[in-house]
Amino acid sequence: MMRKILCFLLLFNLYPVFSQTEITTNELYDHISFLTSTVNKGRYPGSSTNKKLVKYIFKDFKKSGLEKFDQSYRQEFVAELRVSNDVDKKPEVKTWNVIGLLKGNDHKLQNEYIVLGAHYDHLGHGGPSSKSDQLNTVHPGADDNASGTAALLEIAERLSAIQSQLKRSIIFVAFGAEEQGLLGSKHFVENSPVPLAQLKLMINMDMVGRLNEQKQIYMGGAGTFPEGQKLMAKLGKEAGLNPVVHAGSVGGSDHVSFYKKNISVLGMHTGGHKQYHTPEDTIDLINFKGEKMVCDYIFQTIFTLASSAHPLTFIAQD
Ligand SMILES: [Zn+2]
Repeated sequence: MMRKILCFLLLFNLYPVFSQTEITTNELYDHISFLTSTVNKGRYPGSSTNKKLVKYIFKDFKKSGLEKFDQSYRQEFVAELRVSNDVDKKPEVKTWNVIGLLKGNDHKLQNEYIVLGAHYDHLGHGGPSSKSDQLNTVHPGADDNASGTAALLEIAERLSAIQSQLKRSIIFVAFGAEEQGLLGSKHFVENSPVPLAQLKLMINMDMVGRLNEQKQIYMGGAGTFPEGQKLMAKLGKEAGLNPVVHAGSVGGSDHVSFYKKNISVLGMHTGGHKQYHTPEDTIDLINFKGEKMVCDYIFQTIFTLASSAHPLTFIAQD
């Protein structure tokens, strides 16, 4: 019977569609494995290593069917790097955000954009932001934020497969130089490919690979759009998670740059840990099943909001 079904699916070319729409732990593993590999040297901004990383991300965007703005998936900017206090001059390097677009289909709502973002950079060999006394050791940043980057690529692929059902448009951004002071997202909001008034919601994923046994997914900013807290609690439960929903508490990562421009935001993460900003933030500590659940939850959130006219007016929080 199973074979008959498979033959039927293959005959009508339905099988590939099925396989593409599912987010799998294997795909998440492959991305995080690449991003944390020693050849990528802790994903420090600048240099040829940075260029290769950017290529990996935009090639995946392209494979998933995302469009580019202005003939390029890359948005270049100059990042001033953090140095220890005894160094006078901050070095400047060229680095990039990677941006992809899925256009919605409703002639009016397609001009409203939901942004899904995650920073792909990390601390390189440590530097002033490291919490470790191990100097000059690769900081792989598996949770921070290879986990978010992998989630970004997989959710993009899944949303692309159901593009025909989207009313609003979606912009996917892998931010550079977050660890240097949210530099990629600051550059993005100052140089947005669409007018800021058309960015209706920004969802950020920073450290989403360590879902705990209680399945707690934390988020700030759920009160920045109408019915946000209610919606996020409901969808979280449906996804089998225990969402910890904060109306405000907007801080800590790239969504702050959007919030400061009066854009509704959701900052998602699975919580802090001892290995934060140390060389011990490694792939073997990632909860892949948990990360898949988080991805499915965020997918469902974007799908719900992009396929409906749910109002996304900005509500400021204290
Ligand atoms: Zn981070």
